[in-house]
Amino acid sequence: MILGTILKMKKINKSDAEWKDILSDSVYTVTRKKGTETPFSGALNINIDAGTYYCVCCDNILFKSVHKFNSGTGWPSFYEVASGTSVQSKIDISLGMSRVEALCMVCDAHLGHIFDDGPEPTGKRYCINSVSLKFTKKDK
Ligand SMILES: [Zn+2]
Repeated sequence: MILGTILKMKKINKSDAEWKDILSDSVYTVTRKKGTETPFSGALNINIDAGTYYCVCCDNILFKSVHKFNSGTGWPSFYEVASGTSVQSKIDISLGMSRVEALCMVCDAHLGHIFDDGPEPTGKRYCINSVSLKFTKKDK
C-alpha cells in the first residue's frame, strides 16, 4: 500500500545550481548541503500554533502541529510524520557519528535527524531545522 503510494509519487530532481538559484542562502545551506541551523535560532522552534508544516523546497506535507512537542533541544521536534510520503530516513555517518538523517521524500531536502528518545506512542524524535520548514496556520 505504502509502496504503491511511493511509486506514484512524483520526485523532484533539480541540479545544485537550480536549487541555489531559488533558495535563500540559509535554506540552501541546510537543505542542500546538510547544514544545521544554530539551536534556538529558528522561527518555528517555539511555534505552538495549530497547522501544517511543509517542505520549504517543494511544499510536500511533512509534519502536523499535533505531533510537535517541546524537546528543549532548540530545534522544532516532532514524534510522528504527516504521511507515508513525507519523510525518508537514511543512515548518516558524517562527523564521526552514526545518526539517522531525515530527508524530504519528494525532493531529498535535508531536514534534520531522527532519534529514538522521543515521547510515546512512537518513541521517535524528528529533530528538524526550522529553515527546512514552511508553516501554514490552520483556519480557525
Ligand atoms: Zn521537499
